Amino acid sequence: MSETAPDGALLAELESEDARLASAPPLAVLSWVFRRFGAGAVLACSFEDVALLHMARSIRPSLEVVFLDTGGHFPETLEFLERLERDWSLRVVRTTPPPEAEAWPCGTARCCELRKVEPLSRALHGRSAWITALKRVDAPTRDGAPVVSWDRRFSLVKVNPLATWTDDDVAYYLSSHGLPEHPLWAKGYGSIGCAAMTLPPRPGESRRSGRWVGLAKDECGLHES
Ligand code: SF4
Repeated sequence: MSETAPDGALLAELESEDARLASAPPLAVLSWVFRRFGAGAVLACSFEDVALLHMARSIRPSLEVVFLDTGGHFPETLEFLERLERDWSLRVVRTTPPPEAEAWPCGTARCCELRKVEPLSRALHGRSAWITALKRVDAPTRDGAPVVSWDRRFSLVKVNPLATWTDDDVAYYLSSHGLPEHPLWAKGYGSIGCAAMTLPPRPGESRRSGRWVGLAKDECGLHES
């Protein structure tokens, strides 16, 4: 991944839009990103992000949706993806890990890098902006996340329309629109990644506390810019 610096005018614009959209509803943020970047904006979706996917699709039905297929997802995640892809006529772009990922199984040092970070970097190549479902409440590592910023790691604009939302905001959106949720939520899971490294959170702990249990790891590297 080579880092490309944005020009000063773009950085100033992003700073100004981040301030303007700091308290804006996600739909307003999405309207701006699609107006500003058109088809150059893609959504990275784990298929837990149904509320954001629903909003984005309501504005731009032809939106490209990037799914990072690590090869280790729960069958429920893949079935849910296929169901929404079919029912909502989604344009899903699935990434796959490179062959060398075979040498780095679940939880080893380069696994996330090869199965998530590098495939996402390739999927974002040539794009102008990526949209994520990141929320500040997800984890302490995310509590300062801007709504609009320059992503140095992937060298494009990063937009977090749900940055200011809570889990209750997401739940309310899903229920008030009659939307399906990831099937593992009903089984007690709170944040769903690869099957080998995801457990339901223990009572009273955060939704992401079931991720990478026993490892000194809080993030997969996608949101470290
Ligand atoms: S979450 Fe675990 S299994 Fe999935 S890509 Fe990262 S290290 Fe590999």
